[in-house]
Amino acid sequence: MSDERNERSERNFSGGEGGGDRKFFAKPKFCQFCADKQLVIDYKKVDLLRKYITEDGKIRPRRQTGACAKHQRVVAAAVKQSRHVALLPFSGRALDDNRS
Ligand SMILES: [Zn+2]
Repeated sequence: MSDERNERSERNFSGGEGGGDRKFFAKPKFCQFCADKQLVIDYKKVDLLRKYITEDGKIRPRRQTGACAKHQRVVAAAVKQSRHVALLPFSGRALDDNRS
């Protein structure tokens, strides 16, 4: 029985969507801006806006940020504005290793 077969059909799904076990940081239950009326969304508040973008500089979806539709729009606009004046990167990784 010299059945020589090289079955290489065994694929390694290492980077796929394995399960729902990924740890994102906890989603707030309420829209942060509705909860705190004094909190103003401003394109100059980079620290605030950074919570609403990914490491790549993309705007997080609402299910992750927990913001309501109204404020999510404002945040998105602020992020875009902030990018425009170079307070936030368009693509996070490009500027990451700039400082030695
Ligand atoms: Zn809101």
